[in-house]
Amino acid sequence: MKILVSGGCGYIGSHTCVELLNNGYEVVVVDNLCNSKENVIDKIKEITGKNVTFYKGDVCDKEILRKIFNENKIDAVIHFAGLKAVGESVEKPLMYYRNNIDSTLSLCEVMNEYNCKKIIFSSSATVYGDPAKLPITEDMPVGNTTNPYGSSKLYIEGILKDLYISDNSWGITLLRYFNPVGAHQSGLIGEDPNGIPNNLMPYIVKVATGELPCLSIFGDDYDTKDGTGVRDYIHVVDLARGHVKALEKLLSVKGINIYNLGTGNGYSVLEMVNTFSKVNGVDVNYKIVERRAGDIACCYADCSKAFNELGWSAELSLDDMVKSAYNFVLKNKK
Ligand code: NAD
Ligand code: UDP
Repeated sequence: MKILVSGGCGYIGSHTCVELLNNGYEVVVVDNLCNSKENVIDKIKEITGKNVTFYKGDVCDKEILRKIFNENKIDAVIHFAGLKAVGESVEKPLMYYRNNIDSTLSLCEVMNEYNCKKIIFSSSATVYGDPAKLPITEDMPVGNTTNPYGSSKLYIEGILKDLYISDNSWGITLLRYFNPVGAHQSGLIGEDPNGIPNNLMPYIVKVATGELPCLSIFGDDYDTKDGTGVRDYIHVVDLARGHVKALEKLLSVKGINIYNLGTGNGYSVLEMVNTFSKVNGVDVNYKIVERRAGDIACCYADCSKAFNELGWSAELSLDDMVKSAYNFVLKNKK
């Protein structure tokens, strides 16, 4: 089975390529490297001892997609390619809508041309907005996204649902990720954001290594266990394995399916900082500042649907997450 992985040089895509290869799939990657490096392909090969076919190109570009489909018999696509920085999406909404929506449209149009109708899409817990109850189940309402990035995910989910309504020979899986963190145990691949990170874990790591002076914790007056925001952090390797399980099902059935991929546990910002410090034996300097606009107090998943239907659940611990995140950065520090 040959799987096209769009955005396969990125953080989640690269870990998923490893799990696919370890499970006997052939992997073709297309990535324009706007937020990643080509040497990730070598790292994937080094970890797995398997080959990867790489195309440098933009998923919005139908010509490169046709070239890929002409040169490879693709059985299914996992579509990670997209821009993901929430703050940047507020500043550059058109760029976000253009890239995230256009890439999905081009991809699905070319898939249709080649009668390849199986796709897994990287969605996000952000589509639930501020959830009315916790834990979040897949049947809860979506909408009220607070930024263009989140809205692009919501709109793409809608586009894929409409595509299925128009042609139910498609198999479509929407995976709503909670908060992916951590890195492969080899330390060869991990999260390597350019500039100042937006997300908590890469920020903590940069404070721990001394690259940044101090973590700002956005608010300690939420209605949570210690007043700081609570999220469902999931190890990226568990998340990648969730894709392999989702793919197994997708290859055998038609239809549209939605799954939350998280752990079901909520940890606060302070718990994350303290666990990171304890497990890695390093201080993380922090200060409490104002809440960040658009943040919600608490978000964690009910993952029983993925367990019951895919036979998947997260296995790695919070200690594994913080340890592997730090290990990756120490190994790759310039
Ligand atoms: P990432 O930026 O590390 O990876 C995305 C990859 O896609 C990058 O390698 C980038 O170069 C590539 N890319 C972007 N636009 C492209 C285009 N038009 N053509 C070809 N390549 C393109 O991000 P990630 O964290 O691995 O996220 C993967 C997907 O999961 C994204 O769609 C993201 O929105 C979604 N997601 C991520 C998170 C998270 O916290 N990391 C949470 C929920 C959903
Ligand atoms: N957070 C923080 N300081 C930072 C980055 C994030 O206090 O520099 C908090 C944020 O308010 C939220 C949690 O950490 O409660 C996770 O934020 P992140 O941006 O990683 O993910 P989100 O769930 O917002 O997509």
